[in-house]
Amino acid sequence: MDSIIGIDLGTTNSAVAYLTDDGPTIIPNALGGRLTPSVVALDEGGRVLVGAAAKEYQVVRPDRCASLFKRWMGSDRTVTIGGKTFTPEDLSGLVLRSLKADAEAFFQRPVTRAVITVPAYFNDTQRKATIAAGRIAGLTVERILNEPTAAAIAYGFQGVDENKVILVFDLGGGTFDVSVVEQFDGTLEVRSSAGETALGGEDFTRALAARVLESVGLPFERAEATLPLVVARVLQQCERAKCQLSREESTTVRVPGADGELAGGKEVAVGREQLQKWIAPILGRIETPIRRVLADARLTREKIDEVILVGGATRMPLVVRRVRELFGKEPHGRLNPDEVVALGAAVQAGLVQRNAAVNDLVVTDVSPFTLGVEVSKEYGQEIQNGFFDPIIDRNTVIPVSRVKSYSTMQPNQTTISIKVYQGESRKTQENLLLGEFDVTGIPPGPKGQEVAIRFTYDLNGVIEVEATIVATKKTVSHVIARHAKGLSEAAIRKAVRDMEKLKTHPRDEEKNHYLLSRAERLYKELAAAPRRHLGALIDGFEAALESREPDAIGRHREALEYFVAEFDADNDDPTGNSYE
Ligand code: ADP
Ligand code: MG
Repeated sequence: MDSIIGIDLGTTNSAVAYLTDDGPTIIPNALGGRLTPSVVALDEGGRVLVGAAAKEYQVVRPDRCASLFKRWMGSDRTVTIGGKTFTPEDLSGLVLRSLKADAEAFFQRPVTRAVITVPAYFNDTQRKATIAAGRIAGLTVERILNEPTAAAIAYGFQGVDENKVILVFDLGGGTFDVSVVEQFDGTLEVRSSAGETALGGEDFTRALAARVLESVGLPFERAEATLPLVVARVLQQCERAKCQLSREESTTVRVPGADGELAGGKEVAVGREQLQKWIAPILGRIETPIRRVLADARLTREKIDEVILVGGATRMPLVVRRVRELFGKEPHGRLNPDEVVALGAAVQAGLVQRNAAVNDLVVTDVSPFTLGVEVSKEYGQEIQNGFFDPIIDRNTVIPVSRVKSYSTMQPNQTTISIKVYQGESRKTQENLLLGEFDVTGIPPGPKGQEVAIRFTYDLNGVIEVEATIVATKKTVSHVIARHAKGLSEAAIRKAVRDMEKLKTHPRDEEKNHYLLSRAERLYKELAAAPRRHLGALIDGFEAALESREPDAIGRHREALEYFVAEFDADNDDPTGNSYE
């Protein structure tokens, strides 16, 4: 049987892992990296680049690159790059396709099944969108798993008799997610989740970039509007500097000149202390979600037994210190914070496959949002519409099914219209409309004819609705025909065909394209003299690639690599990707 892979499909970075007899292991990508940036590019030749090469390309050709699209999963928003329009599902599908190819190269055989993680707060539309992205990549999604659950699984909090309350603190590139996971009689259960959808490492990078630009008299907002390429380069510089300051006390950032050009600028020293002072106010925003997640789980801080750090931004010493202060204990950081989720997904994949290594593990999860329908209320003579009638409460253990009956309000009424919502507000207006449907064929008769509706959250946190007309016992399943948002079945099939048509570069050339992207980016940063030299090297390498002569490619590649390594020395990608 083929291996099921575990995938962390992240906002900033993605990773793929599988379960071995010794536990879960990360599968490296074509560049040897353990993380693949969730960036997709369409190069001038119309080929797709994914990962580190696309991330480098984004610095020089932002108009041909897309990133952060996980934020728009399940929405109607589209992204146009290089003249082609993509849905967030398409783009996520291309990232998944690249991870699938990495796993296939690793196993030397086709891989078609995966467990994919999503934030615990992902609603039904977003979960279905993730399953659709899997299909676009040619993967059967065996299970959608909540990210905090995956993290807890990776740390092996299960199968042990001890009962524990674990707090999963996940500060990634663009989002902050905090969840309380309870280990109880050898099972894991997400008790509550909260988060901040616009708080993460990118905000720290931007805070640093704003200071850097200000120091040459360029306010960040204005620079973003008028000098987008300069901003892209400064951001790239600042991300590197930020990561370096997690290990070292000080580093330098290249500040652009007044014309915005890095080549005409200078180097400025930045210290860890300074960076911490600048980001402290932003980091303060973790407190509200933490309070909420504890309140939802009906717990106080002292009741938390373990804290797990997840997400690349938890590598920052200031973040670890804040967590220690908030919970009065040392958080777990044994596993790489940006790999934990993929590792947990790989364990779950082993569970789906009934791998002997994870025999006695049981994982349960809870519904992410309250599910209900719209009802009207009578106030004396007056009928008011738009009230939310909860059917399955938030944080109920899944899978779960509830049946609720509705009656006709008029004599000879043959149809009942039902609107299904997800959310926590008393008014449907403030909740998410998942879809609406009509139950038809109710036999004519007096008012009060009953229709029983079964609402189910399956193991993936995905909703199914089934209606039965009590008098006739006629049942209609999958009744949410008119989805409010997200792709229809036909649209998914079309997306599968469209994305199949998009070609990538042969796998053994990926390193070359990464090297080229990185060289192009460096080109724009250098002063005139080395820049001319680099230009000549790039030309030579491109000509060699064109010629398809291995000897020539090897020679030009080596020369270019040598130059890039020399001038871009401390710019190593934090995701561990390399072209060597
Ligand atoms: P996501 O879950 O959003 O896909 P990750 O968990 O991979 O993302 O986190 C990515 C973020 O972590 C980026 O903003 C990156 O700059 C940051 N990061 C990675 N390594 C470090 C480090 N050593 N120090 C500080 N920030 C880091
Ligand atoms: Mg993540």
